[in-house]
Amino acid sequence: MSLPTLRFIVCLLAILGPTVAWGASYDLVIRGGRVLDPETALDKPLNVGITAGRIARISAEPLTGARTIDARGLVVAPGFIDLHQHGQDDVSGVLKAFDGVTSGLEMEIGVPDVKEFLAQKSGHSLINFGTTASHSAARAAAFGQPLAPTEIIPPSGRSTNDPATPAQLAQMQTRLQQELDAGALGIGMGIQYVPGATRDEVIQIFRVAASRHVPVFTHVRSAGKKEPGSSIEAVEEVIGAAAVTGASLQIVHINSSCLSDAPECLAMVAGARARGLDVTTEAYPYIAGMTEINSALFDQGWQEKFGISYDALMLPDTGERLTKERFDELHASPKVNPVVLFINRQEVVDADIADPLVSIASDGELGHPRDAGTFCKILARYVRELRTVTLLDAIRKMSLMPAQRLEKATVSARRKGRMQEGADADIVIFDPAAVTDRATYEHPKEHSTGMQFVLVNGVPVIAKGALVPGVLPGSAIVSGAPR
Ligand SMILES: [Zn+2]
Repeated sequence: MSLPTLRFIVCLLAILGPTVAWGASYDLVIRGGRVLDPETALDKPLNVGITAGRIARISAEPLTGARTIDARGLVVAPGFIDLHQHGQDDVSGVLKAFDGVTSGLEMEIGVPDVKEFLAQKSGHSLINFGTTASHSAARAAAFGQPLAPTEIIPPSGRSTNDPATPAQLAQMQTRLQQELDAGALGIGMGIQYVPGATRDEVIQIFRVAASRHVPVFTHVRSAGKKEPGSSIEAVEEVIGAAAVTGASLQIVHINSSCLSDAPECLAMVAGARARGLDVTTEAYPYIAGMTEINSALFDQGWQEKFGISYDALMLPDTGERLTKERFDELHASPKVNPVVLFINRQEVVDADIADPLVSIASDGELGHPRDAGTFCKILARYVRELRTVTLLDAIRKMSLMPAQRLEKATVSARRKGRMQEGADADIVIFDPAAVTDRATYEHPKEHSTGMQFVLVNGVPVIAKGALVPGVLPGSAIVSGAPR
């Protein structure tokens, strides 16, 4: 090729720009949707070109692709990231996809064996996944009562209720280091489920997280107004541990951990942040919680503590409300039985969701409507009906804020929660006037509707409102360098 010809081609390229130069064709083009990016506050109709699982181009110019989605009249936003998803089963995966969740991570408590979890899910998951290292599981192992691979919350017993010896504490710390090496994104601490953990133990575990520059996710020690053991005391404990160790901290489900004291708990989070601490929090939009009935949460004194009685407890599969006799039988049983607790007030939850410090996380598992409906409920109830959250803020709470929470543990999270060139193509496309949750306490597995398309790593898992069969594009989100 002669030099003048080469110059001519270079000039032509400069004029035409990179997308048209080679008649560029993307794997997939999303045409004409209202593109929302919570980080840059972008909100306008644009075209999106996707190649090899990433957003390659966002442009007002027409783009051509092997496949095209006509998104005119629809919102195009980053897929939702649920940092608190216990149900890692296939049914939950489908429910999450219908709800717009493209990444569902077990961060509150963590799985008992990170390596095994990642190996089992790899190539078999509809949505992206990840986990923390489990303090509860490390504790159970140190007490010689290791948890089964799918067990998250330990049954009440010696390993939950006794203080650890120095040797047991050292064993826990070693185990947590190994789990972080295996790809865990932080340390999960369900302190209320292991009441035997002393204040000192909590600080020593925070030190492990601080030394590895990963966050601690915690279900705090206690809930309620009664002292000692109030929500305020429990939140004070973990903010104190973050302050003295330097660890980053996410206080999970501030709605159910703080109940009617949530405004003060949120003020404590704001105060900690104002003084330079990296403390964040999350909530789910339901008045009822759910947990295991044989856990330490229901040890002596729970009624007085939570201000509820047996009839506030419901079995999810049958709707049966409990009596004293039935409760005693189930609490003593070694069998894991989930129970729904009606414990909060609607106006408290509504105020939590609207608070700018609060990101959205479902605490999802089968049996509770939050597994299926959390994210579309935010769009239907808070954005559309109550108008207490703007659409862009809702997207921020459900995508960018959780991505930012993960960024200290993995740089790969910088490619999530954003509609930007170079970001992972985890994308939701929906009609904001129609999208809604449908799950109820009676029918907790009713999937949300209105998500027209949901893409995970560039691959549609929901298309035209229906599940796409035979695709499993979810990949692991792990600590360290991007993979
Ligand atoms: Zn919890």
